[in-house]
Amino acid sequence: MSLDFTNMNIQSNLSSPFRAGADNLSSPFRAGAGKVILVGAGPGDPELLTLKALRYLQKAEVVLTDRLVSEAILHEYVNEDAEIIYVGKQCRRGVSTPQATINELLVQFAAEGKLVVRLKGGDVSIFSNILDELETLVKNKIEYEIVPGVTAALGAAAYAGIPLTARDISTAVRFLTYYKSDVVSDEYWKELANTNDTLVFYMSSETLSGVVENLVANHISADKLLAIVEQATTPLQHVHSCSLYEYKAKLLNKKFVSPSLVIIGKVVALHEQFKWLSNSNNTQQYFAPVHNHPSYNKAARA
Ligand code: SAH
Repeated sequence: MSLDFTNMNIQSNLSSPFRAGADNLSSPFRAGAGKVILVGAGPGDPELLTLKALRYLQKAEVVLTDRLVSEAILHEYVNEDAEIIYVGKQCRRGVSTPQATINELLVQFAAEGKLVVRLKGGDVSIFSNILDELETLVKNKIEYEIVPGVTAALGAAAYAGIPLTARDISTAVRFLTYYKSDVVSDEYWKELANTNDTLVFYMSSETLSGVVENLVANHISADKLLAIVEQATTPLQHVHSCSLYEYKAKLLNKKFVSPSLVIIGKVVALHEQFKWLSNSNNTQQYFAPVHNHPSYNKAARA
């Protein structure tokens, strides 16, 4: 079944209960300024957008979007008069809009009185620069709201048929990253190798051999498997899975399609039984590289 958003009667309720009234003399917000809505777009599948996100996209005058946001969301759901600006970041590729530019754009458009949606892949708060943006908004007295999104871990787990916690198997899940070697201490690797919590590593497929090496060095048990979910929740999703002790033989020199997410734990074994999507076997990219976006340079120059 698919949801048809176009015919849905969505009640508009833009005023938040926390919002200071326009006639409130003690309003903490800059006079005449607009509002910034920080919105999580979900991990890929456009139908994972929340109704609240959809409603704001339909009202927005400006949308500042990350790279890991489905083009379909921008094409189908954003108000057609809205200006869409790509401010994507691409780690390690050397192409990105500086955070300072993004902050300036947020302030500039809000100061013009506009309703600005700052669209981020997945959830707004998980491994994102939300703190910089929140600090900027507060400093500049700009009103904002935060709309959560389905984070990649939840999207990947659902679309790969891997329950992140499952009765008698795992009672907790940790969201981690290993994008550079000093973010996890030796002591913590020991703990990660021994816990029964499910481990989810963001931004770590390029450093995966380091993750495996550290867990194996700390004697992680062989019944904890590894899954790499490439382009989760998109038509190009592909899941690779093996035990950490088979990794060297099976996946060592493999280059995973970005974005990809790593899930480690006993629950990964459930994938074989509960997977409901077949692998795409297609290494095309679902998310366009930043430099292919038409307004990328415009944003970077602003
Ligand atoms: N705020 C985002 C995460 C941003 S960090 C969220 O909540 O999901 C970017 C990392 O997220 C990527 O390197 C990758 O590890 C993961 N990611 C995002 N979208 C993904 C997808 N569709 N499939 C697999 N991993 C994804």
